[in-house]
Formats: sequence, structure tokens, C-alpha cells
Amino acid sequence: DSISNYLRSHIRTVPDWPAPGVQFRDITPLLQDPTVFRVLIDAFVARARTHKPDVVAGLDARGFILGSVVAYQLGVGFVPIRKKGKLPFTTVEETYELEYGSATVELHTDAVKPGQRVVLVDDLIATGGTMMAGKKLLEKLGGVVVEGCAIVDLPELGGSKKLREGGLDVFNFVD
Ligand code: 5GP
Repeated sequence: DSISNYLRSHIRTVPDWPAPGVQFRDITPLLQDPTVFRVLIDAFVARARTHKPDVVAGLDARGFILGSVVAYQLGVGFVPIRKKGKLPFTTVEETYELEYGSATVELHTDAVKPGQRVVLVDDLIATGGTMMAGKKLLEKLGGVVVEGCAIVDLPELGGSKKLREGGLDVFNFVD
């Protein structure tokens, strides 16, 4: 639809970054233009509002940029899910497999209370591993992850399919 095309036209594909053969989807042009940024955030907020979340969780690092503004607009709190070693308080952690090696993400143990409804936000879903790890962390604390929202899904990588099969509803604007 028109919003998808509008947002897509402000995503830049950078070839061979961060490694040869990778087509990196760079979302910084979406953030840099104030009109586009507002359209993007308003669309995220409209979507997230339908779930009546208690909390918005953002995935390190571009999920922070988007998720914090969405939380602010909805009048709910924001919690960061960070790469290991960055959060100062007690944490729960989750390790997941990457193409080469593995990654660990952490969440503060007081970030959500049992039963709280959480919308999980990131910029992009590739294999879905990051978003699935975020869902697991929130669920360790008793959170109810009502949806995972991203600007972009790369459907050929199968991430959104895997997430749905794993019980997470996912939403994206561009694929
Ligand atoms: P996944 O865990 O789904 O394989 O990878 C998604 C995570 O890696 C997200 O946190 C996302 O920010 C980052 N990522 C992977 N590929 C890209 C890309 O092409 N563009 C952007 N903007 N982020 C990417």
C-alpha cells in the first residue's frame, strides 16, 4: 500500500556491508527526514495502540530509537533489551545462534511484571533470532508479548514465519 511504498522509498540498501554479499537495509534516511520520521512513528503508534500494551520493549540498538518514541506517545514505559554486558542491574539472559557463532541479550529482572502486555519493537527482522530471544526474555519475567513490530521483514530469510510458528504475532510495514 502507499505507506509501505513511502517508507520503502526511504530505506537505502548498502551492498557488501558489514560483510561481502550482505545487502544491508539502512533505515537512517527514515529517521533523518522529519516528515518521514513522523509518518513512521505515527504508523507504529497506531499499530501498537490496538494491543493496549503496558510496556514497549526495544531491541538493541535501532529498536531503542523507535520503541522509546512509541512508548512516549502511548504513555507507557520503555524497557531496553540489550546486548550482553551493558545492563547494570540483575538480568535474565538468552543466547541464540547466528550464522557464525552466537549472541546473548539481556533484560533487567524488574523490566516487566507478570501479566504485563508488551509490544516488542525492532527495525528489521532477518532470521528472527533476535526477536525470538527478546520474546523469551520477556516471558521469563511473566510478560505477555502481544506483538513483535518491525519496519522491515526480509521474508526470504524465513524469520517472520519462524516467529509466527513460535507463537509470536509479527507486524511489519515493508518486505
Ligand atoms: P535476525 O536476528 O532477525 O537475524 O536479525 C535482526 C537483527 O539484526 C535486528 O536487530 C536488526 O537491527 C539487525 N539487522 C540484520 N540485518 C539488518 C539489515 O539489513 N538492516 C538493519 N537495519 N538491521 C539489520
